[in-house]
Amino acid sequence: MKQVDLLYSGKAKSVYRTDDPGVYIMKFRDDITAFDGEKKDTLGGKGRYNAEVSSFFFRYLEEHGIRTHYLESIDAASMAVRALEMIPLEIIVRNIAAGSLVRKYPFREGEPLDPPVIIIDYKSDLHHDPMLNDDLIFALRLATPEELDQIKATALAVNEILREYLDARGVTLVDFKLEFGRERGDIVLGDEISMDSMRLWDKETGASLDKDVYRFGKGDVMEAYATVAKRILSRPGGETA
Ligand code: 5GP
Repeated sequence: MKQVDLLYSGKAKSVYRTDDPGVYIMKFRDDITAFDGEKKDTLGGKGRYNAEVSSFFFRYLEEHGIRTHYLESIDAASMAVRALEMIPLEIIVRNIAAGSLVRKYPFREGEPLDPPVIIIDYKSDLHHDPMLNDDLIFALRLATPEELDQIKATALAVNEILREYLDARGVTLVDFKLEFGRERGDIVLGDEISMDSMRLWDKETGASLDKDVYRFGKGDVMEAYATVAKRILSRPGGETA
């Protein structure tokens, strides 16, 4: 399989076509952005951490029965993925109130949400990712009721799998964002699962281990990303595998 031309370049990843029409190459760049692209930087090595964590989680989820776009890792910052027709929805699962939920609604930061809360945003830079509800999703013909049911059920299943895995390694999964696509009519988990798309807190100290470190200047982002990459590859309890 050979990389051909650039299909799409987002804020932190680029997607390339290959000589196989069913396969794309997703490259995690060292770019980091926040606040709708208003804050941006390039941090050497960041792409590799996100690629490593995403690849690991996609493989782990596949082992636990979740269909993902992941095929194989190509190099430290790139993976081969199935070509999906992406659905422009951001499926956000929240276990603990934080971020925009606390800014927009009367929740206390750190308040547990049981059962988890799913929020769906329209992925559109032009419209600044507004929140949708089911009726709007159907009116905009973004997904059918059957697809939306499957997307929500899969997102909750992913939450249970990741939450347990991270908890055993001293990391609290506060919330995260997923994106799905279609492959020959089937719903498949796509995009990334990384420190750019999850909110993670150290279980002991409550310290942020994700993009919030960058968003709010809470310390060394690369150190936080390195901590997650290391913990993910460790055995439960902390010993490195
Ligand atoms: P919030 O709504 O609190 O800003 O974000 C909730 C969760 O979803 C966080 O883990 C955040 O990283 C993720 N998230 C929300 N919107 C986006 C987005 O546009 N891009 C990425 N990468 N993650 C997002």
